[in-house]
Amino acid sequence: MLDGLLTTFKDEITLKEIGWTCSTIFFNTLVTLAGYKLFQHGVIIFHLNFSVTELLADFLLLIVAMDFMMYVFHWAIHKLHALYRYHDLHHQYNNPTAVSLFVLHPVEVLGFGGLWLCLLTAIDFSIYAIILYLMFNVAMGIIGHLRKEFIPASVKNHTFFQWLANTGFHVDHHQYQQYNFGFYTKVWDRIFGTLK
Ligand SMILES: [Zn+2]
Ligand SMILES: [Zn+2]
Repeated sequence: MLDGLLTTFKDEITLKEIGWTCSTIFFNTLVTLAGYKLFQHGVIIFHLNFSVTELLADFLLLIVAMDFMMYVFHWAIHKLHALYRYHDLHHQYNNPTAVSLFVLHPVEVLGFGGLWLCLLTAIDFSIYAIILYLMFNVAMGIIGHLRKEFIPASVKNHTFFQWLANTGFHVDHHQYQQYNFGFYTKVWDRIFGTLK
């Protein structure tokens, strides 16, 4: 059974993907260190007092702001030829796995990281909202790169999921690259006419 699992693992995930994943973790760590330096110098400020209202308000603001900025960045990296060569690496996987989420060129990692640091510099957020958002971000990234939709069709057809990104939404982007540039929601794709 273990042999079978290892064979499946080798079939699904390549050494190349693992190498790019290590690279992405390294460059994300550099972004985090840059953020720490900005925090030390008082450029980035966090609210430390716990309040449920502030937590929820900041969490929603983080989702809306990052979803919009990442939509624009993702759209631009597809449309600008000089930039697409960096994003092409991620699109080598028409049928992505959860690990494909981390197959990103360092330029792209630093681009997304730069957006994140700009937002943290512009607005002072609750540290608890930041922690919640970071967990949400990884969860949505993994959900977007699973091959199978794990939400039952009956639930998926609910109005709520017409606005929230799901597995099929991002897998469709891997197969039809001119559509579905959003990450957390379908809002910006609906507004700008890029929803498949
Ligand atoms: Zn893309
Ligand atoms: Zn992807």
